[in-house]
Amino acid sequence: MTAPLFPLFVDLRGRSVLVVGGGPVAARKVAALLDAGAQVRVGAPTLNTALAQLLEAGRIQHSVGEFQPDWLDGAWLAIAATDDAQVNRAVAAAGAARQIWVNAVDDARASSVHVPARIERGPLQLAISSGGGAPMLARHLRERLETELDESLGPLAELLTQARARIRARYPRIAERRRFFDELLAGEIPALLRQGRHAEAGDALEAALQVTPKPPKTGSVALVGAGPGDPGLLTLRALRLLNQADVILHDRLVSPEVLQLARRDAEFITVGKQAGAALTTQEQIHELMLEHARAGRRVVRLKGGDPFVFGRGGEELEFLHAHNIAFEVVPGITAALACAAYAGIPLTHRDHAQSVRLVTAHSKDSVDGLDWRSLAAERQTLAVYMGVAGLDRVRAQLLAHGRDPATPFALVENGSRPEQRVILGTLAELPERARAEDVRSPALLIVGEVAGLAESLHWFGAAPLISESMGGLACAA
Ligand code: SAH
Repeated sequence: MTAPLFPLFVDLRGRSVLVVGGGPVAARKVAALLDAGAQVRVGAPTLNTALAQLLEAGRIQHSVGEFQPDWLDGAWLAIAATDDAQVNRAVAAAGAARQIWVNAVDDARASSVHVPARIERGPLQLAISSGGGAPMLARHLRERLETELDESLGPLAELLTQARARIRARYPRIAERRRFFDELLAGEIPALLRQGRHAEAGDALEAALQVTPKPPKTGSVALVGAGPGDPGLLTLRALRLLNQADVILHDRLVSPEVLQLARRDAEFITVGKQAGAALTTQEQIHELMLEHARAGRRVVRLKGGDPFVFGRGGEELEFLHAHNIAFEVVPGITAALACAAYAGIPLTHRDHAQSVRLVTAHSKDSVDGLDWRSLAAERQTLAVYMGVAGLDRVRAQLLAHGRDPATPFALVENGSRPEQRVILGTLAELPERARAEDVRSPALLIVGEVAGLAESLHWFGAAPLISESMGGLACAA
């Protein structure tokens, strides 16, 4: 992948910009540049009517003739907007030689700077770029956002700009300021502006600034389930808390796509285990939650899947409770549910399974300590967490307690993520199949008649990898 463009908003007020070209495209660029306060020089043999009028009004300067590299002298930026791609490239090359940024219209490769699709609401601007590769996509997105972003955002941005210094003085600490804004933006001011009641909105802001700042509240901890990886599987509540958090303590298992939805300026702390080795001990995690909550921060303890399913969420709540820290819990989609759904495996099914059991098999003791006699019963589905290393024992125990060696299994690796893999086989060959396919954590094992349904019901990502001994069984299931 090529490196992404670096977005910037540039201040062109009083700065010299060269536009090469005298037609309608050049005229559009010139208009936008004049809006931004630039001093525009247009270089072209002739000017269209709009440009000629600007020249007459003294708003632009004109260099007459074919492009000359010395037109670039003194320019901060140049836009090559002729209808001749070669001329535009010559401008780009001359600009590069002088270290002047050049946008060659409709020529992403020649351009050292791109002009984004943009949405304006007063001083608020959204710029959208596809890096030059898919401008129609950027435009499409702009159209969608245009209809979604209310016009009142402009006056709102203006109001906040005017009050900026006073808001800062009143709330010098960033955490307090953020709370003030959160309340302000959730309150009546945006609504007043939407109704065109600008004076009243101004008064409301004044009133809000008069209110004595509340003493910093004691912090809190929200134990939040991040789901299995696909950000679409977050709950709305999780999303809201992620956007309000001051500190986010997250496990390795939490996907980057989910973290990207969180508030950018929150403090992110990675905790937990990697490949079984503890980066942070459970005690350290407890201490971190305590420290940040006591400092008045809103802590989100973000866990893969659901916090109460093999996540030590219970211990964390007991600790918080014992230390009088306010807490809440937001459930998440646990791996068993997500992997089953994304592999096309109904965990229960009237014909095949009347119950489902969630078990963990992270160590030899945890495997052997399970009640295998009941786990080996037919017509039930087993979902085994953290089982990649324990597959030999899982098979041995199930077979020893009477489960049919022909029972189908599914191993779902990276469930719900773009790289999801599903391996299907029979219990008899479980660990060998896992080794042959080099299954890595995180992976979830599903054992039971229903696992075979993945062969026909899979819908997400790559097709399942099916062993030869499977065929007939899958049909039977
Ligand atoms: N609280 C989590 C489970 C934590 S234990 C939950 O509710 O999902 C970690 C184990 O969960 C992993 O070893 C793996 O077995 C399973 N797991 C978590 N995310 C997974 C995913 N995206 N795909 C497959 N298995 C996953």
